Amino acid sequence: MKDSAPRIWRMRNNLYRIRYSKCKACGASFYPARASCIRCSSRDVEVRVSLGLGTLVEYTVLYQVPARMQDNAPMVIGVVRLDEGFELYGVIVDADIKDLRKGMRVEAVLRRLRVDGSSGLITYGIKFRPVIGAAHGEGSGRG
Ligand SMILES: [Zn+2]
Repeated sequence: MKDSAPRIWRMRNNLYRIRYSKCKACGASFYPARASCIRCSSRDVEVRVSLGLGTLVEYTVLYQVPARMQDNAPMVIGVVRLDEGFELYGVIVDADIKDLRKGMRVEAVLRRLRVDGSSGLITYGIKFRPVIGAAHGEGSGRG
């Protein structure tokens, strides 16, 4: 058990970054990363790391959540379209439900997913939160 935390630390690049594939043949972006293009089947694809910025396409609010997630209720699950051109599902955090709207800017953040009861090991993962200030435009009232 002693090596669990270092092992996760070593794996962090895979766990905490959004890796996607970009097809050099047709330009399609897709997630998760694959060795061949989902659109044109070309194998001329490269793995890239997303900047984690995107737009909230759709979302749903869950008032009934599993018991172990009760602290997080209500929980917002969204479809996020990353700026690199692919979509993924994610939990939306740090947002008032009344302020959520389709098309708002969001960014990926690293958040605690769960705590392993027996080992105390904390697992982290990617979630999304609204980009602060985006609703009022950039550069206004900075200070
Ligand atoms: Zn392609």
